[in-house]
Amino acid sequence: MSRSPSLPDRPRLELDPDMSEEERLQALEDHYGEILDVHRELTEQLDAADARRRQLKQEVDRIERENETLKASSLYVATVEEIDADDGEAVVKQHGNNQEVLTEVSPRTVERVEAGDRVAVDDSFSIQTALSSETDARAQAMEVDESPDVTYGDIGGLKGQTTEVREAVEQPLTSPGQFEAAGIDPPSGVLLHGPPGTGKTMLARAVANQTDATFIKMAGSELVRKFIGEGSRLVRDLFELAAEREPSIVFIDEIDAIAAKRTESKTSGDAEVQRTMMQLLSEMDGFEDRGEVRIIAATNRFDMLDRAILRPGRFDRLIEVPEPSFEGRVEIFEIHTREMNVDDNVDYEVLAGHTDGYNGADVASVATEAGMFAIRDDRTEIGMADFENAIEKIEADGAGEPVSAAYPDYAY
Ligand code: ATP
Repeated sequence: MSRSPSLPDRPRLELDPDMSEEERLQALEDHYGEILDVHRELTEQLDAADARRRQLKQEVDRIERENETLKASSLYVATVEEIDADDGEAVVKQHGNNQEVLTEVSPRTVERVEAGDRVAVDDSFSIQTALSSETDARAQAMEVDESPDVTYGDIGGLKGQTTEVREAVEQPLTSPGQFEAAGIDPPSGVLLHGPPGTGKTMLARAVANQTDATFIKMAGSELVRKFIGEGSRLVRDLFELAAEREPSIVFIDEIDAIAAKRTESKTSGDAEVQRTMMQLLSEMDGFEDRGEVRIIAATNRFDMLDRAILRPGRFDRLIEVPEPSFEGRVEIFEIHTREMNVDDNVDYEVLAGHTDGYNGADVASVATEAGMFAIRDDRTEIGMADFENAIEKIEADGAGEPVSAAYPDYAY
């Protein structure tokens, strides 16, 4: 809105040719006086405008500074717990102090965030930005599955291991009272160890499924290789997230990457791995108060583990998951062909006999490959010959090498 003052009228000089010299002089003097008045008035207006300009400039400077401070001020990280798009409201939980607040959300933000997202909030908890997955190392480093679909029935062999995992992980979650009544603490952490591709991850997912728990997986090797310098923070975040999502199963795959025996070398990489492991130990030591969070870890290199992680109160239940036996392979074949259109002539016992040394993942590949052979041949029914061809192909690719050769610890 312009507030310019109105300008004074311009003085006019009208000289009548009939005027005498004196009248003319008088008229000029009057006109000069009028000009002086207008000049004074304009000078005053100019001074006032100048003063106003200075005042506005100061205000602009102040607002600019304020704006800069606002832009530079730190924002808090929070998780959106619930969001009501119609009312433009959300419940957010600030990380660190877990304070939950009901906050208003702008229509633009409502479209961009959903429950479970990480967001940045200001002092008044207004959502400033949704943290994209690129900036969210936590999201990259962890795989969160609200309801994994693996069941115990999908796991071939491993009956004893399944029972042990159920006792150590499932029962403390489903009937904690039983442990209290018996006066014993459930195992703190369960360590599954054995060669790759034998169903360790499946076991952990199946327990999460059975207990309606959120499955949160973090790979130890990625912590060390991909998130250099962030390992210990991510371990802290992992347990924080698990507490937020309880009941939950924390699954740390390839734990040997962060919990290997201490080496003599003192490179900075080792120091970083060491810090990550110390964080893991301290999280586990404070684990009792963590409610419905259970922790499972897996490793293919049990021999490399630092014994500190196996102390009571840490990974105090060790479960060996070996490569499948003959009966195990028959079951794994049966499981992986459940949905397939398989000819009656297919004999899983014969196939199991031909796949000695195969792990569960290899057996699963044989089933898929057999299906591919039938499809290539324009058939929809998969016969024994397709399975034999698949085994031949996998042998040729070298995938069927006995796992025990590469993992001497697990040569049964
Ligand atoms: P790694 O140590 O390499 O992480 P893992 O032991 O965790 O391996 P999984 O990821 O559980 O192995 O298994 C990989 C795949 O192999 C599964 O998705 C499944 O298809 C198949 N598989 C492995 N073991 C079994 C099993 N016992 N029963 C059925 N399928 C299996």
